Amino acid sequence: MDHELRAEYENEADAGRPDAEIRLWHVVRQYATTAMCGRELSPDAPVRSADAWGSGEVKVCHSCGALLLREAP
Ligand SMILES: [Zn+2]
Repeated sequence: MDHELRAEYENEADAGRPDAEIRLWHVVRQYATTAMCGRELSPDAPVRSADAWGSGEVKVCHSCGALLLREAP
């Protein structure tokens, strides 16, 4: 299963703006906009490789992280 990280904005009204503040990153299935924890994310929100998860360089949703761990072999 291919996953990626998708941003949750501090303020969804700022979605798509390059200077929008990102609250945290959720895990989504590739090309999906619904996070594993159930949160709907903006289709305009930036995505990045799931490799960043676990690196400590990005803030990732704890629920998504736990669900991903359960799914990964
Ligand atoms: Zn999440």
